Amino acid sequence: MHDQSIADLAAGLRAKRFSSRELTAHFLDRIGRLDPALNSYITVDHDTALAVADAADRHIAAGAGGPLTGIPIAHKDIFLTKGVRTSCGSRMLDNFIPPFDATVVERLGAAGVVMLGKANMDEFAMGSSNETSWYGPVRNPWDTGRVPGGSSGGSAAAVAAGLCAAATGTDTGGSIRQPAAFCGITGIKPTYGRCSRYGMIAFASSLDQAGVLARSAADAALVLQAMAGFDARDSTSAEAPVPDYAATLGEDIKGLRIGLPQEYFGEGLDAGVEASVRAALAELERQGATLVDMHLPNAPLSVPVYYVVAPAECSSNLARFDGVRYGHRCEAPKDLEDLYKRSRAEGFGAEVKRRIMIGTYALSAGYYDAYYLKAQQLRQLIADDFRRAFEQVDVIMGPTTPTTAFALGAKTDDPVAMYLNDIYTIATNLAGLPGLSVPVAPVDGLPAGLQMIGNYFAEGRLLNIAHRLQQATDWHRAVPAAAPRRPPSETGARD
Ligand code: GLN
Repeated sequence: MHDQSIADLAAGLRAKRFSSRELTAHFLDRIGRLDPALNSYITVDHDTALAVADAADRHIAAGAGGPLTGIPIAHKDIFLTKGVRTSCGSRMLDNFIPPFDATVVERLGAAGVVMLGKANMDEFAMGSSNETSWYGPVRNPWDTGRVPGGSSGGSAAAVAAGLCAAATGTDTGGSIRQPAAFCGITGIKPTYGRCSRYGMIAFASSLDQAGVLARSAADAALVLQAMAGFDARDSTSAEAPVPDYAATLGEDIKGLRIGLPQEYFGEGLDAGVEASVRAALAELERQGATLVDMHLPNAPLSVPVYYVVAPAECSSNLARFDGVRYGHRCEAPKDLEDLYKRSRAEGFGAEVKRRIMIGTYALSAGYYDAYYLKAQQLRQLIADDFRRAFEQVDVIMGPTTPTTAFALGAKTDDPVAMYLNDIYTIATNLAGLPGLSVPVAPVDGLPAGLQMIGNYFAEGRLLNIAHRLQQATDWHRAVPAAAPRRPPSETGARD
């Protein structure tokens, strides 16, 4: 059952081939057996999942419900879930039980999904490998000695290993697309503002966006449909209507102009990844698309710009975690200052602290103009490159990441090497554009991704192109060998 598409699962539920309770129990059983070796879930909520599944079964029996009713999914642990611990991968929120649901969670709940649990993630979504989680690293189901990508690494690993039908994620600089590429699944980060950020723990508010990790573009379309749309509780959510994504899947792509930025095919790109990406582009060409060489001249600036803007915003957003209003509080504080200092020192991990320090520095009087203001100006140039590009082409494509998944521990001592992993994904967030990653032919047995970047609100077009590719190829159907290669004892929380 875990290998079926969401549409097939929904048809199976409706035809009474199985119930949502059986489907949910099947996923819960797989989580129990396979997740100790992967660590993709932080929290699994058996009882609520089965109760929601029963309600979905009653709904379906009454002839009601929609395409997601009774479908088991996971939520990244950055989305607030009423009554269910929401840790954001941090010790700081290890004891936090939200009193309300994030809008994305609420909407998917209203669409009838069954939440299996909360997916592991890099602490406060800061990372590219899922190694910054307080709950221990997630392992890539294709090779448990490798990382699944980050920060939505738990979501990606759970989808790839068949531990949920789909999962939510968030993407501030690549955290949906990069883990999707490393785990061989489809991931979409919509236009900034397409999905509400209400109840989604903030990392860098001008960049954060919710999206979907799924086994195919068709599955992602169904989930995004239910999540997207204006929300009066998020002042940056877009008032634009949400089109029917499923209805445009399968449209012809004849005449589609695909821009290939030379900056995304240069030095640092693994030859095997490039060959697989070019093979996927050749398939789109065969279907009538034209490939156009082009430039995004300011794209090489996106990593340095991001690592000023994102830490600056994070230093401000994370100021609320002070040991008083939320989360972890140190034992027996001497006075207020000691309370703040020790609670934050104990609650946050090294990467989060690094970002808070960089951000506080960049925003401080005397440095603001030199760093934050300069970064915002360059950010505009990066967005202008895309604006000009979309006058010439309909969509921009390239690799999602320069390499396939790297070994656990390979980059933990070198933050800059880790940051460079997002070199192809970050510009999209700085410009607020939608991006999608689809699996291409594996490279030495490991997944790789083709990234598609669209103009504002072109999610439907990206999903359609990805669907066309997936109708003609089998890359997205490959599944990792179920048997983990490492003993379960090697995962687990840090001490
Ligand atoms: N890897 C990037 C970072 O560490 C992006 C993270 C994200 O998109 N949430 O900030």
